[in-house]
Amino acid sequence: MAKQVLPGVYQIGMLYVNAFLIAQDEITLIDSGTPKRNETIFKALSQSGKTPADLKHIAITHHHVDHTGSLASLVEATGARTYIHPVDALVVRGEKSPPNPATLLGRIVDRVAHPKLEPVIADEEVQDGDELPVAGGLTVIFTPGHTAGHVSYFWPQNGGVLFAGDAAGNIVGGPGPPVGAIGGSFTEDPEQAKESFRKLAALEFDTACFGHGGFLTGQAHAAFRRAVEKMAR
Ligand SMILES: [Zn+2]
Ligand SMILES: [Zn+2]
Repeated sequence: MAKQVLPGVYQIGMLYVNAFLIAQDEITLIDSGTPKRNETIFKALSQSGKTPADLKHIAITHHHVDHTGSLASLVEATGARTYIHPVDALVVRGEKSPPNPATLLGRIVDRVAHPKLEPVIADEEVQDGDELPVAGGLTVIFTPGHTAGHVSYFWPQNGGVLFAGDAAGNIVGGPGPPVGAIGGSFTEDPEQAKESFRKLAALEFDTACFGHGGFLTGQAHAAFRRAVEKMAR
Protein backbone atom coordinates (compact mmCIF):
# COMPACT_ATOMS: atom_id res chain seq x y z
CA MET A 1 0.00 0.00 0.00
CA ALA A 2 1.21 3.46 -0.85
CA LYS A 3 1.18 5.94 2.05
CA GLN A 4 -0.52 9.26 1.59
CA VAL A 5 1.86 12.13 2.36
CA LEU A 6 -0.59 14.90 1.48
CA PRO A 7 -3.83 14.95 -0.50
CA GLY A 8 -2.73 13.68 -3.93
CA VAL A 9 0.84 12.89 -2.88
CA TYR A 10 1.79 9.29 -2.15
CA GLN A 11 4.93 7.51 -0.97
CA ILE A 12 5.40 4.14 -2.66
CA GLY A 13 7.70 2.01 -0.53
CA MET A 14 9.66 -0.79 -2.22
CA LEU A 15 11.63 -2.66 0.44
CA TYR A 16 14.22 -0.02 1.39
CA VAL A 17 13.57 2.70 -1.18
CA ASN A 18 10.69 5.09 -1.91
CA ALA A 19 9.24 6.50 -5.07
CA PHE A 20 6.58 9.23 -4.93
CA LEU A 21 3.63 10.19 -7.02
CA ILE A 22 1.77 13.44 -7.41
CA ALA A 23 -1.76 12.78 -8.60
CA GLN A 24 -3.47 15.62 -10.41
CA ASP A 25 -5.16 15.43 -13.85
CA GLU A 26 -1.91 13.83 -14.92
CA ILE A 27 0.31 11.68 -12.75
CA THR A 28 3.91 12.64 -12.04
CA LEU A 29 6.21 10.01 -10.57
CA ILE A 30 9.39 10.99 -8.71
CA ASP A 31 11.88 8.13 -9.24
CA SER A 32 10.88 4.66 -10.35
CA GLY A 33 11.98 2.28 -7.62
CA THR A 34 13.73 -1.04 -7.98
CA PRO A 35 13.48 -3.21 -11.12
CA LYS A 36 10.26 -5.07 -12.04
CA ARG A 37 7.97 -2.85 -9.96
CA ASN A 38 5.44 -1.70 -12.56
CA GLU A 39 2.64 -3.50 -10.74
CA THR A 40 3.52 -1.92 -7.37
CA ILE A 41 3.46 1.51 -8.99
CA PHE A 42 0.25 0.85 -10.92
CA LYS A 43 -1.42 -0.25 -7.67
CA ALA A 44 -0.47 3.07 -6.10
CA LEU A 45 -1.92 4.81 -9.16
CA SER A 46 -5.24 3.05 -8.71
CA GLN A 47 -5.19 3.91 -5.00
CA SER A 48 -5.11 7.55 -6.09
CA GLY A 49 -8.01 6.92 -8.50
CA LYS A 50 -5.85 6.84 -11.62
CA THR A 51 -4.80 4.35 -14.30
CA PRO A 52 -1.42 3.68 -15.95
CA ALA A 53 -2.54 5.79 -18.92
CA ASP A 54 -2.56 8.82 -16.58
CA LEU A 55 1.17 8.44 -15.83
CA LYS A 56 2.66 11.20 -18.00
CA HIS A 57 5.90 12.27 -16.32
CA ILE A 58 8.74 10.50 -14.50
CA ALA A 59 11.24 12.84 -12.83
CA ILE A 60 14.42 10.99 -11.85
CA THR A 61 16.70 12.23 -9.06
CA HIS A 62 19.80 10.18 -9.97
CA HIS A 63 21.03 7.15 -11.84
CA HIS A 64 21.16 4.55 -9.01
CA VAL A 65 19.27 1.36 -9.76
CA ASP A 66 16.93 1.65 -6.78
CA HIS A 67 15.67 4.92 -8.31
CA THR A 68 15.72 4.00 -12.01
CA GLY A 69 15.05 0.25 -11.80
CA SER A 70 11.56 0.27 -13.29
CA LEU A 71 12.09 3.28 -15.55
CA ALA A 72 12.48 1.38 -18.83
CA SER A 73 9.48 -0.87 -18.22
CA LEU A 74 7.29 2.04 -17.06
CA VAL A 75 8.17 4.10 -20.13
CA GLU A 76 7.42 1.10 -22.31
CA ALA A 77 4.05 0.54 -20.63
CA THR A 78 2.89 4.16 -20.43
CA GLY A 79 4.93 6.34 -22.81
CA ALA A 80 5.60 8.73 -19.90
CA ARG A 81 8.16 11.51 -20.49
CA THR A 82 11.35 11.25 -18.46
CA TYR A 83 13.38 14.00 -16.80
CA ILE A 84 16.96 13.68 -15.54
CA HIS A 85 20.14 15.74 -15.21
CA PRO A 86 22.46 15.32 -18.25
CA VAL A 87 25.37 13.97 -16.17
CA ASP A 88 23.34 11.09 -14.73
CA ALA A 89 21.48 10.70 -18.05
CA LEU A 90 24.73 9.37 -19.55
CA VAL A 91 24.59 6.44 -17.12
CA VAL A 92 20.85 5.85 -17.57
CA ARG A 93 21.33 5.80 -21.35
CA GLY A 94 24.14 3.29 -20.95
CA GLU A 95 26.72 5.65 -22.49
CA LYS A 96 28.85 5.79 -19.36
CA SER A 97 29.55 3.30 -16.57
CA PRO A 98 28.62 4.58 -13.13
CA PRO A 99 31.65 5.79 -11.17
CA ASN A 100 32.83 3.66 -8.29
CA PRO A 101 31.33 4.57 -4.89
CA ALA A 102 33.71 6.37 -2.56
CA THR A 103 33.92 3.64 0.09
CA LEU A 104 35.14 0.04 -0.13
CA LEU A 105 31.86 -1.26 1.32
CA GLY A 106 29.99 0.70 -1.30
CA ARG A 107 32.15 -0.74 -4.07
CA ILE A 108 31.53 -4.30 -2.86
CA VAL A 109 27.77 -3.91 -2.38
CA ASP A 110 27.54 -2.01 -5.67
CA ARG A 111 28.53 -5.09 -7.68
CA VAL A 112 25.59 -7.00 -6.23
CA ALA A 113 22.96 -4.30 -5.70
CA HIS A 114 23.43 -2.28 -8.87
CA PRO A 115 23.10 -4.56 -11.88
CA LYS A 116 23.36 -3.02 -15.31
CA LEU A 117 19.95 -1.84 -16.52
CA GLU A 118 18.29 -1.63 -19.86
CA PRO A 119 19.21 1.80 -21.30
CA VAL A 120 16.52 4.48 -21.22
CA ILE A 121 16.28 7.57 -23.40
CA ALA A 122 15.91 10.68 -21.25
CA ASP A 123 13.39 12.94 -22.95
CA GLU A 124 14.22 16.08 -20.99
CA GLU A 125 17.60 16.96 -19.56
CA VAL A 126 17.02 19.20 -16.56
CA GLN A 127 19.21 21.92 -15.03
CA ASP A 128 19.30 23.75 -11.72
CA GLY A 129 16.39 26.18 -11.46
CA ASP A 130 14.35 24.73 -14.32
CA GLU A 131 10.64 24.78 -13.69
CA LEU A 132 9.19 21.64 -15.23
CA PRO A 133 5.69 21.91 -16.67
CA VAL A 134 4.46 19.00 -14.55
CA ALA A 135 2.22 18.86 -11.46
CA GLY A 136 1.51 22.59 -11.89
CA GLY A 137 5.24 23.40 -11.81
CA LEU A 138 8.11 21.41 -10.29
CA THR A 139 11.44 23.14 -9.69
CA VAL A 140 14.76 21.38 -10.28
CA ILE A 141 17.44 21.83 -7.61
CA PHE A 142 20.89 20.61 -8.59
CA THR A 143 22.23 18.67 -5.57
CA PRO A 144 25.40 16.86 -6.71
CA GLY A 145 27.60 14.78 -4.44
CA HIS A 146 25.71 11.55 -3.90
CA THR A 147 26.05 11.27 -7.67
CA ALA A 148 27.56 13.91 -9.95
CA GLY A 149 24.22 14.59 -11.64
CA HIS A 150 21.86 14.32 -8.67
CA VAL A 151 18.87 16.64 -8.63
CA SER A 152 16.12 17.16 -6.06
CA TYR A 153 12.68 18.48 -6.90
CA PHE A 154 10.77 21.23 -5.13
CA TRP A 155 7.00 21.47 -5.44
CA PRO A 156 5.75 24.85 -4.17
CA GLN A 157 2.19 23.70 -3.46
CA ASN A 158 0.92 22.73 0.04
CA GLY A 159 3.47 24.87 1.87
CA GLY A 160 6.35 23.49 -0.16
CA VAL A 161 7.24 19.84 -0.69
CA LEU A 162 10.85 18.78 -1.14
CA PHE A 163 11.56 15.53 -2.97
CA ALA A 164 15.15 15.12 -1.85
CA GLY A 165 16.01 11.86 -3.59
CA ASP A 166 19.26 10.73 -1.97
CA ALA A 167 20.60 14.27 -1.42
CA ALA A 168 19.16 13.76 2.08
CA GLY A 169 18.14 10.64 3.93
CA ASN A 170 15.93 10.15 6.97
CA ILE A 171 17.09 6.77 8.20
CA VAL A 172 18.32 7.38 11.76
CA GLY A 173 18.12 10.45 13.97
CA GLY A 174 16.40 12.81 11.56
CA PRO A 175 17.36 14.08 8.12
CA GLY A 176 21.01 14.26 7.11
CA PRO A 177 23.33 14.26 4.11
CA PRO A 178 24.16 10.88 2.50
CA VAL A 179 27.54 10.48 4.19
CA GLY A 180 28.98 8.21 6.85
CA ALA A 181 28.47 4.51 7.54
CA ILE A 182 24.70 4.51 7.01
CA GLY A 183 23.56 6.05 3.78
CA GLY A 184 26.98 7.09 2.56
CA SER A 185 28.12 3.85 0.97
CA PHE A 186 27.13 4.90 -2.55
CA THR A 187 27.98 8.58 -2.28
CA GLU A 188 30.56 9.65 -4.85
CA ASP A 189 31.70 12.91 -3.22
CA PRO A 190 30.82 13.31 0.49
CA GLU A 191 31.97 16.95 0.77
CA GLN A 192 29.88 17.99 -2.20
CA ALA A 193 26.96 15.99 -0.77
CA LYS A 194 27.16 18.01 2.47
CA GLU A 195 27.19 21.24 0.47
CA SER A 196 24.07 20.13 -1.40
CA PHE A 197 22.35 19.25 1.88
CA ARG A 198 23.06 22.80 3.12
CA LYS A 199 21.56 24.13 -0.12
CA LEU A 200 18.35 22.19 0.56
CA ALA A 201 18.23 23.35 4.19
CA ALA A 202 18.15 26.95 3.02
CA LEU A 203 14.81 26.40 1.26
CA GLU A 204 11.40 26.77 2.89
CA PHE A 205 9.33 23.60 2.82
CA ASP A 206 6.69 22.10 5.08
CA THR A 207 7.10 18.53 3.83
CA ALA A 208 10.20 16.52 2.95
CA CYS A 209 10.18 13.23 1.04
CA PHE A 210 13.26 10.98 0.97
CA GLY A 211 14.50 8.14 -1.19
CA HIS A 212 15.32 6.34 2.05
CA GLY A 213 13.42 6.81 5.32
CA GLY A 214 10.01 8.18 6.21
CA PHE A 215 8.70 11.55 5.06
CA LEU A 216 8.55 14.60 7.36
CA THR A 217 5.60 16.96 7.63
CA GLY A 218 5.21 20.37 9.29
CA GLN A 219 8.09 22.86 8.93
CA ALA A 220 10.34 20.07 7.69
CA HIS A 221 13.05 22.60 6.76
CA ALA A 222 13.61 23.20 10.50
CA ALA A 223 14.88 19.63 10.92
CA PHE A 224 17.25 20.16 7.99
CA ARG A 225 18.58 23.35 9.57
CA ARG A 226 19.18 21.58 12.88
CA ALA A 227 21.17 18.94 10.98
CA VAL A 228 23.25 21.67 9.33
CA GLU A 229 24.03 23.14 12.76
CA LYS A 230 25.06 19.68 13.96
CA MET A 231 27.33 19.27 10.92
CA ALA A 232 29.07 22.56 11.78
CA ARG A 233 29.89 21.48 15.33
ZN1 LIG B 1 21.46 6.72 -4.49
ZN1 LIG C 1 18.88 5.40 -3.09
